[in-house]
Amino acid sequence: MQGLMMQMPLMISALLTHAEKNHADTEIVSRTVEGDIHRYTYRDMGRRSRQLANALKHLKVKPGDRVATIAWNGYRHMELYYAVSGSGAIIHTINPRLFPEQLLYIINHAEDGIIFFDLTFTPLIEKIAAQCPKVRAWVAMTDHSHLPPARIENLLCYEDLLDAEKDDYVWPEFDENTAACLCYTSGTTGNPKGVLYSHRSTALHAMAVCMPDVFNMSARSVVLPVVPMFHVNAWGIPYAAPLIGAKLVFPGPALDGASIYQLMEQEKVNYSAGVPTVWLGLLNHLKQHNLKFSTLQYTVIGGSAAPPAMIQSFQEDYGVRVLHAWGMTEMSPLGTLNTPKEKHLSMSKEELFKLSLNQGRTFFGLDLKIVDDDGKSLPRDGQSAGHLLVRGQWVIHDYYKSDGGSPLKDGWFPTGDMATIDPDGYLQITDRSKDVIKSGGEWISSIDLENVAMAHPAVAEAGVIGVHHPKWEERPLLVVVKRAGQDVTREELLKFYEGRIAKWQIPDDVAFVNELPHTATGKISKLQLRQQFKDYQLPG
Ligand code: AMP
Repeated sequence: MQGLMMQMPLMISALLTHAEKNHADTEIVSRTVEGDIHRYTYRDMGRRSRQLANALKHLKVKPGDRVATIAWNGYRHMELYYAVSGSGAIIHTINPRLFPEQLLYIINHAEDGIIFFDLTFTPLIEKIAAQCPKVRAWVAMTDHSHLPPARIENLLCYEDLLDAEKDDYVWPEFDENTAACLCYTSGTTGNPKGVLYSHRSTALHAMAVCMPDVFNMSARSVVLPVVPMFHVNAWGIPYAAPLIGAKLVFPGPALDGASIYQLMEQEKVNYSAGVPTVWLGLLNHLKQHNLKFSTLQYTVIGGSAAPPAMIQSFQEDYGVRVLHAWGMTEMSPLGTLNTPKEKHLSMSKEELFKLSLNQGRTFFGLDLKIVDDDGKSLPRDGQSAGHLLVRGQWVIHDYYKSDGGSPLKDGWFPTGDMATIDPDGYLQITDRSKDVIKSGGEWISSIDLENVAMAHPAVAEAGVIGVHHPKWEERPLLVVVKRAGQDVTREELLKFYEGRIAKWQIPDDVAFVNELPHTATGKISKLQLRQQFKDYQLPG
């Protein structure tokens, strides 16, 4: 017997319609590429998104077509998120920090028909446009007066397109499994691969991340996503915010500590999200100028392990609760987030802090397990480290165009991460399986070693890699960027590890550099770092 309830497909456009109806006057504030602050509401966004959907129709965008963006976090990007997916086409958010060859690869691989871009990227578009034969129009996301005198064929102006349209578009309803958005993985090895989210997976992910033990966002939240809309859809915040009617504050291209701080204070931001490298910049700015936050309460940190020293500084120096999260592009991206359970509330401050450091628990819609090298399940004892596998409502089933064959193993997606899970379900990522240091048959977590180094006051950033060792196979090398105006020696740093980590895990050597290489998504590029130190001779 079938249930007798309505069947309403989960549509991305419904998130916006909901916000327009129920949170019409809630604001969306954007720092624009032109430099000013733009301010409007969900009511305005709804109207303009429908105008844009009409414009896409006149540009002959059909269901399933790929429409790409190369853009910062801002209101026009938000309109594109909804107009493109809402009309049945697929929004492909391109990471402008990719190398030009990778960028060209993904534009041509996705077969993008139209590309919308922020003015910052005009020189980049001028360079690559001729090599993108499938792109029939390039749309500068600006008004007529700011249109650049660019040498780009088929250049259109965003505001001109909207001005020509009415807002009478009716969002169509279709199968909720229809593709809605396309993101490419950063591709540390080989070509980037496309992850194709559906309306259903996106809507379910958005609903799940709003839950109290996940992002805990609400109609009282003022959210500044520092995580870019070209990096796994800003972790789903552009979908979650309309769903609960949160005010959005978009930072545009200004991601330095001073600009983020100024915008947070001006707009009374109480919620933010970003990768550790961005927060390093912000915390440095606060320290240097002896500043405090007036309204910021929460920040989600993910994308790489949040160093304990950073979590501590946010919480103790600035009264901001850190929500340490783990996820990946193939998971839309959220997988776990750290919040305590009721039984933990009686813990001491120190114990609670220790609990807050790991990557947290998963939530309904996802299932996690760890297995050994032979695929045998390992116990959830907080000790046994194994390969982390996931399955769930917003986890990849296949890459776009089935690149590389099915990624699944017995119905589970292997994340490539190594982890432990404790009896309460708390996940501790010990390493990327490729980054773990194999020393004499034992494994050393590069993340653990980086976290210790990051706790030293003279260390701005630290990366640890395994380098060849004639006896132990590999031994850890600590590569450090010193904090401006601070000094520390190799010996002092190695001494700092004593008592903080097992003796045999202490790095064999320290190399000081001016800067660490980063990937397009802001992680330390271990691949490049290993390359840089491939002939490194360890002492002794
Ligand atoms: P991406 O698909 O670019 O978002 O990268 C996903 C990968 O980033 C994961 O598989 C992890 O290796 C890493 N990652 C993300 N969040 C964390 C975290 N909180 N701690 C440690 N590693 C993380």
